[in-house]
Amino acid sequence: MKNNYLLFTPGPLTTSLQTKRSMLSDWGSWDSDFNAITSDIRKRLIKIVNGDDKYTCIPLQGSGSFGVEAMLINYVKKKEKILILINGAYGERIKKICDYHKIKNLPFIWSEDKPLDLLKLKNTLKKDKSIKNLAFVHCETSTGILNPLQEVSKLCKIFKINLLIDAMSSFGALDINSKKISYKALVASSNKCLEGVPGMCFVISKKTEIKKCNGNSDNLCMDLYDQWVYMEKTGRWRYTPPTHVVVAFLEALKQFSNEGSVRGRYARYKDNVQNLINGMNKIGINSLLPKKIQSPIIATFLSPSDKKFKFEKFYQYLKGYGYIIYPGKMAKQESFRIGCIGHIGKKEINNLVSQIEKFLKKEKISTDRYAS
Ligand SMILES: *Cc1c(COP(=O)(O)O)cnc(C)c1O
Repeated sequence: MKNNYLLFTPGPLTTSLQTKRSMLSDWGSWDSDFNAITSDIRKRLIKIVNGDDKYTCIPLQGSGSFGVEAMLINYVKKKEKILILINGAYGERIKKICDYHKIKNLPFIWSEDKPLDLLKLKNTLKKDKSIKNLAFVHCETSTGILNPLQEVSKLCKIFKINLLIDAMSSFGALDINSKKISYKALVASSNKCLEGVPGMCFVISKKTEIKKCNGNSDNLCMDLYDQWVYMEKTGRWRYTPPTHVVVAFLEALKQFSNEGSVRGRYARYKDNVQNLINGMNKIGINSLLPKKIQSPIIATFLSPSDKKFKFEKFYQYLKGYGYIIYPGKMAKQESFRIGCIGHIGKKEINNLVSQIEKFLKKEKISTDRYAS
């Protein structure tokens, strides 16, 4: 089956033809050519966060959540309390993972559309000396809110707390500099801002940190220490790697580098989100977040309150024209989301917005207000 959908979603997302084409060959997972690809990818990923040879990258089979779970169960000891910053679905997922594995945790919850209260966080860390770890979602993709990495990292340093970063939807598009930010481990995946296809994730940490993880994991397939030791020794993945995904990932990383790495990618996504929000405002649809905390990754839009607006109808209409958008993930308000990441630019964004305008006209949906 063939389609020409453009994905305005936070991953999987639209990949380039070149990336898709790179998957037309089969690879032996023990073969040295394939191992060289894995090794190349690991080096490139470390470079993206400005890591030196003190750092290592451990790839793992599976989607991003597999990586988040693996990071937590390897780098966090069950009895060493972790504070989980939660302002959306991915923060909630971290809590769920910790509960599953009986990792002692404390949620720190705030509103999905408000910036983190750093003073309140500081006081919490000051008061509770038993907090040894902190889990942080850099860009909370469920709304598109950008959380303050620099500031949280600073607090963790002051209070000697291990920082664990879910950088899934920020890695590659937002600056994460290992020379400026100290963290115990961070995790991301192939199919977000690096524009690969889904199927693998990876954790980056200092080698000294992964070395301390021996025996921590209570899950064999997610034992990152074991995966790391084996990969260092043999160059191979422990258990079957998603070979096509890996090969496509290298191809995507080459394109990433040609685009100017983080700086280039950030610039395109930033343009995308601005074009999108401006265009939507012009046709009377408002985004949820104030500019200051809006990431260039995905935007949440408030559904028109006109009863004639039905998300399912809207979705199917756009799909008919080749555009796939995303439902909202907010509890308190009806919303939908449009991703700005992937192999898309100005033309695609503008075409999507005019198609949305046509839908509103066709269905005679009145919008709430015309924002400036
Ligand atoms: C996409 C994403 C994940 C992982 O989701 P999967 O569906 O398992 O790939 C985790 N955290 C954040 C912030 C994400 O955007």
